[in-house]
Amino acid sequence: MSSTITDDHIRPQTLDQFIGQDDLRANLRVYLDAAKSRGQHLDHSLLYGNPGLGKTTMAQIMASELGVNIVSTSGPVLERSADLAAILTNLNKNDLLFIDEIHRMPASVEEILYPAMEDFNLDLIIGQGPGARTVKIELEAFTLVGATTRLGLLTSPLRDRFGVICRLEFYSPQELALIVKRSSGVFKVKITDDGALEIGKRARGTPRIANRLLRRVRDFAQMDGQEKIDAKTASAALDRMDVDAYGLDHMDRNILSCIIKQFSGGPVGVKTLAVACSEEVRTIEEIYEPYLIQCGFLKRTPRGRVVTPRAYKHLKIVKKGMVSLV
Ligand code: ADP
Repeated sequence: MSSTITDDHIRPQTLDQFIGQDDLRANLRVYLDAAKSRGQHLDHSLLYGNPGLGKTTMAQIMASELGVNIVSTSGPVLERSADLAAILTNLNKNDLLFIDEIHRMPASVEEILYPAMEDFNLDLIIGQGPGARTVKIELEAFTLVGATTRLGLLTSPLRDRFGVICRLEFYSPQELALIVKRSSGVFKVKITDDGALEIGKRARGTPRIANRLLRRVRDFAQMDGQEKIDAKTASAALDRMDVDAYGLDHMDRNILSCIIKQFSGGPVGVKTLAVACSEEVRTIEEIYEPYLIQCGFLKRTPRGRVVTPRAYKHLKIVKKGMVSLV
């Protein structure tokens, strides 16, 4: 097996190859075909959802379905308005500009994006002090596709300028199994349906994690001399990787048991929790928490994070003052 297979090789290339997100795909099909048949740019679109759910992949598919170029950048990279101006002035007619992590774009850069999105104009200020003057530059019509993990962090003037807003949901284990099967074809790894489902069940609803687990399970299978990955091989490998039946890893369980043991099950503020778990607030909020909430192990309340009885049961910890149900 060649080691040069990258993420780009396993990315679906067309809307039909993109697995799951059925409602979103059906709507996008309409918007894309309508824009294409008018020969116009697609309305500015915002994709939001957890990391690894397919926002970048979807942006690339949108460009290829429209038959236009995609130029990719990200919010934190655009430090000065001149950085964005340089990109915008180089776009060709109907090109797609993809800005990942758009919520992390500085306010000064965001401001020059408003007229660019609305009227395809760029208002640049040249010089400083009394001699400063504004220059208006006309841009080609383009489509901005923004991706964000945190819709709530987008300013409302920016959010309001998107004509299409799409939310990507977590995937079902069955959808993830299909993704695993597709990727294993690219890796040229043999896998049974139940082997793929075992990985799908433990991939936290996230294609990127499913593909990562597949790579590691493949390593274990290879070193154990297994020709084909079946449910037993997958399950044994995932156990060795400390990924449990719900797909929780060491850090997920650490977060839950920390709230239980150090904060009596909560409520605890996310900043305190981050210090106690030696993890960054953003990582907890964006990577761990959404899936723990989705599984019903954690609740966000106005007073902080609270662990649910389901989490006690999963971790086999008996809550003080309660009779064990385990
Ligand atoms: P995001 O931009 O949301 O963080 P990506 O688009 O980079 O996520 O996707 C992460 C990985 O998961 C990619 O390698 C891609 O191939 C795979 N992937 C994501 N969504 C799908 C899907 N619906 N079908 C198949 N593969 C997917």
